[in-house]
Amino acid sequence: ATGGAALTPDDLPIRDELRGQSAYGAPQLDVPVRLNTNENPYPLPDALVARIAERVAEAARHLNRYPDRDAVELRGALAAYLTRTTGTPLRTEQVWAANGSNEVLQQLLQTFGGPGRTALGFEPSYSMHALISRGTGTRWIAGPRREDFSLDLAAARAAIAEHRPNVLFVCSPNNPTGSATDPADVLALHDAAQAAGPCLVVVDEAYVEFSHHPSLLPLLEGRPHLVVTRTMSKAFGAAGLRLGYLAADPAVVQAVQLVRLPYHLSSVTQATALAALEHTDTLLGYVARLKEERDRIVTELVEAGCEVVASDANFVQFGRFADSHATWRALLEHGVLVRDNGLPGWLRVTAGTPEENDAFLDALRAVLKDGD
Ligand code: PMP
Repeated sequence: ATGGAALTPDDLPIRDELRGQSAYGAPQLDVPVRLNTNENPYPLPDALVARIAERVAEAARHLNRYPDRDAVELRGALAAYLTRTTGTPLRTEQVWAANGSNEVLQQLLQTFGGPGRTALGFEPSYSMHALISRGTGTRWIAGPRREDFSLDLAAARAAIAEHRPNVLFVCSPNNPTGSATDPADVLALHDAAQAAGPCLVVVDEAYVEFSHHPSLLPLLEGRPHLVVTRTMSKAFGAAGLRLGYLAADPAVVQAVQLVRLPYHLSSVTQATALAALEHTDTLLGYVARLKEERDRIVTELVEAGCEVVASDANFVQFGRFADSHATWRALLEHGVLVRDNGLPGWLRVTAGTPEENDAFLDALRAVLKDGD
């Protein structure tokens, strides 16, 4: 429209800390086998689709009105789900929901981070922890992990003492590496963070339903600075729904209400999530299948000569490749899209249907053979 060269965001008066940054960008390519964004491969069952249609039709009759601003019925259903599956009794007042756990994380950082404040996480981890921190004006500190991606408690404690974060992220199971964090280690990090100054400790359990280990939710008892975040994007097979949530002390829930946009969760979203929660048992049946497939992928990758990080998630980090991007491209030529997180030597594959996983494993064996 200006007739000159196309502008970039850097040509606009954007905030200084956003200059030169790249947007979150997992490729959405149209290939036969897409195993790159940790989605659940199973479409929602027909009975649930019908129930969603019913619930949404009912909500549609009232779309002239704003939604329940506090999503009370939905938060109650989420609290009941957590109580039933973890044995930790949770009340509606302890649960908060938003459009994906990304929005939950953003609300937490808007409330507990921000200009002049610091957030710390142990990398490699979920890249949005750093990006949402920066986006909310929060200084980001990349804390260390060992070479095998496990937490080095002594080094982690030293980083906490040095940087005295206001928000500490513990991703368990960790993305992209897949392993869960020991509850004793989470407690040690929590205590170190409180000793360095009050700190909100955010345990990101986006993948916990796929874990060999139980949820860290029982740790909430007596720890008002601890928050556990969850999502319906993975275990509930509802990434398109955009529904994430947290469990914490009721004071944390009241605190995020200071920054949430009024009516942030649409009536359609609330109705759809409630319908999905009615079908929890069916959806958790798919999770059980995916856990078996995840374990099979690990076994077959090891048999193929790969290094694999033990996985508690619906994905597996595998390597090591002299040129992991070349291996990523070779797999793509076989019609299989996996994730290159830019971690030299490693790639990440999401557990798909048995057929998709076979296609991935066959393609990888072919690529490894070509490389010989
Ligand atoms: N946390 C982790 C660790 C994730 O991997 C993801 C999604 N990739 C999210 C949070 C956000 O998921 P959503 O916003 O779909 O709930």
